[in-house]
Amino acid sequence: MSKKLCSVAGFSMLWLAAAIFAALSFNQSATAQDNAPRQVLFTNVNIFNGVDRALIKNGSVLVEGNLIKAVSAQPIKAPKAFKVDGEGRTLMPGLIDMHSHLCIRNGMIEFRGDYDQMAAGAYTATAMQDYLDQGFTTVRDAGCNILGIAKAVNKGIVPGPRIFPSGGFLSQTGGHADTGFFNDRPGDADKLEAALFGYIVDGKAEAMKAARHNLRSGATQIKIMAGGGVASEFDPLHMTQFSLEEMKAIVGVAEDYGTYVMAHAYHDRSVNRAIDAGIRVIEHNFLVSEKTIIRMKEKGVALSVQAVMSLQAFGNPQAITFFNADQKAKATRVNSGAQQMLEWAVKHDLLMVTGGDMFGPDLVRQADNIIWFNDKVANNPHLALKTATSNAAEVLGFSGEMNPYKEGTLGKIEEGGYADIILVDGNPLEKLEAIRRKNVHFVMKDGLVYKSWLPTENAPAFQPAGPKRDDYFGNL
Ligand SMILES: [Zn+2]
Repeated sequence: MSKKLCSVAGFSMLWLAAAIFAALSFNQSATAQDNAPRQVLFTNVNIFNGVDRALIKNGSVLVEGNLIKAVSAQPIKAPKAFKVDGEGRTLMPGLIDMHSHLCIRNGMIEFRGDYDQMAAGAYTATAMQDYLDQGFTTVRDAGCNILGIAKAVNKGIVPGPRIFPSGGFLSQTGGHADTGFFNDRPGDADKLEAALFGYIVDGKAEAMKAARHNLRSGATQIKIMAGGGVASEFDPLHMTQFSLEEMKAIVGVAEDYGTYVMAHAYHDRSVNRAIDAGIRVIEHNFLVSEKTIIRMKEKGVALSVQAVMSLQAFGNPQAITFFNADQKAKATRVNSGAQQMLEWAVKHDLLMVTGGDMFGPDLVRQADNIIWFNDKVANNPHLALKTATSNAAEVLGFSGEMNPYKEGTLGKIEEGGYADIILVDGNPLEKLEAIRRKNVHFVMKDGLVYKSWLPTENAPAFQPAGPKRDDYFGNL
């Protein structure tokens, strides 16, 4: 039986059918194997391990089950392993996006009234497939109704990247996630809240309740809106959101679960209040001063970078069809600050991660976020790659006991790491174009193949876990 597993061009139903076929075929051949742990051996690859500046030339990587068992510059003996000849490509960790909104298609407003949660879920399934196809095997979701989906992915029911979900984001009345109507009365149910995308909370008690609700249902960290935003109607950019007491209360809930809070914040006042409250990751940060960057460095606060959104999309906000005039003006202001802020962040060596915040038409070019950060700011492909591999994994580690993936490490090609592996054409340490989707030839997550343009006959592929016939009919 010979097959290319899945040359995914974009349509998940076709892909799913192919994956099921491939996986069923694999299962039949697997019954003939002995009971030794399943192995996959990658040969003829140059390895970027997620950390080092130099590639391991002509190396080999052995995967056993869902973990990496060996990484070597020498040939590895594994006679029973499935072989994947990398044909000289670069083998590297699956990419990590640290700011996804998997359920959001065209901005937050779209799901206020036009679609229901079934539609959001259907959209999310295609978005997750798209991340995998681009080589992103892990995302940290920065807010939407994602907790059930994360659970379904972990159970193997639907194909998707590993998800570190925040659940619904927390925002105050009139905050960045307030998508109510002008004529709403205080306390009227926010439509996005009804869709479980976010929670409008005021005061310590409400804020703590929402945070606890997320964590009870599997959130790995809490996301709050700590200041004005661009894609929202009621909050001017200069606004600071949540009092220090409210922020501290939310951080306290997170810390009681052994995890942390990430905050959407743009300017000095929001960011410094967030730092005062013990928040550990700032999303966006576009309008802060160098002094605040230095304080972030001193306090070990990480920065989640959105290069495409701030430098490209907001550089031409007229092209964003779902923004009104006010939102377009805010985007222009953010664009003016982002370049300088990112240069300071590089200068002061902040712990930086890549968080695309991309959805809708931008979702399909997630790698651009890493490439733009390099081309416009960092001029250092090694640093840019680390923001989406080992640096990202370091920040994911802030989730502590709430991290659902404790069996292995993420973001690195190392012994004991999760077998989240991509093969790309070219050397990304020299030319980042190598990580664009068209150059991503092979994607493995948790030891299973999700995309392969290589001859990988009989390699273990993802198979949706579903009710088995025997669950209903026994051995009839
Ligand atoms: Zn966001």
